[in-house]
Amino acid sequence: MDEKRFPTSLPEFQRLFPDDAACAAYLESLRWPDGFVCEHCGVKGDPYRFDTRSSVVLRCRACGKNTSLTAGTVMEKTHQPLSTWFWAAYLLTTQTPGMSALQFQRQLGMVRYATAHGVLHKLRAGMVRPERDPIGGEYPVEIDECLIGGATRGKGRGVHHMTRVVGAIEVRARKDGEERAAKWKDSHEGGIPVKKLVYAGRLRLRVIPAKDAKSLTAFIKDDVATGSLIRTDGLPGYKDLKALGYRHHALALNGDPDKAEAHLPMIHLVFSNLKTWLLGTHHGRIEPKHLQAYLNEYMFRFNRRFYPMTAFHSILGVACRVPAPTYAQLYSGEWTHPGLAKAA
Ligand SMILES: [Zn+2]
Repeated sequence: MDEKRFPTSLPEFQRLFPDDAACAAYLESLRWPDGFVCEHCGVKGDPYRFDTRSSVVLRCRACGKNTSLTAGTVMEKTHQPLSTWFWAAYLLTTQTPGMSALQFQRQLGMVRYATAHGVLHKLRAGMVRPERDPIGGEYPVEIDECLIGGATRGKGRGVHHMTRVVGAIEVRARKDGEERAAKWKDSHEGGIPVKKLVYAGRLRLRVIPAKDAKSLTAFIKDDVATGSLIRTDGLPGYKDLKALGYRHHALALNGDPDKAEAHLPMIHLVFSNLKTWLLGTHHGRIEPKHLQAYLNEYMFRFNRRFYPMTAFHSILGVACRVPAPTYAQLYSGEWTHPGLAKAA
């Protein structure tokens, strides 16, 4: 199964992974593409295969020792069938709005809510690790800030419960942009819509304490490559960008929505979709201290939307066998982006 052949529908997914045995065979082929090699004695050869209560085990015919198929993956020591994990990973990586534990439980026909919750938490831990490589470079970057509604219980102090988020997104030219634009011009009046010419590249989002120069430039220095062309509004917080080695195109928008739409269309679309996702999947009930973890999940899916296979392998832990931080650590609110000042 290569990237191109990644299933694009649930029926197709079900044909590829009809049962636990198919999932196990897939895991085995990923780990030993040239055939099983015993990690104890190094002998190559077809092993015995059998299911235990919590794992699929391969037993070497030479030395008789066992190797667990799920060792080092997110599924290690699980009591859930492999097919449940595969389904969950598929739904999490491909379904645009993401999924709540309740939706997931219903979709898989699981009896217990806690089980669905546990599986999702483990998979999400693989989605909320921060992405580190800077974006931009040859691609222009749009940057803007927005407010995300925080918890509204308590005294209802309005904006104090909102959390400020800054976002940066690459704007990439479409290879067929000229053709699309020409086609559009033949049959329409007026300017060419920006989406005919460009599409969104990689995305970075970060919770910031204030829209001041300190917070904004810290984010940009960490997440946007020096020398990139950056488009922003006329906020004073962006005044240092030229001095920091960026090409800066600032435009005073003065709250004019048409100007904003023309100057920063991509990042505004991202903010709009992000708010819809938070409201729809999580009912907007996200504590400010948890928001960064959710932003990371959103980025994970967004940045891999053209590479669903990579995303699928990544959250199952079958591609890189590195111990992930636990869900509890990442969602406790204790964890912050390394680039963020503790004082905030
Ligand atoms: Zn052996």
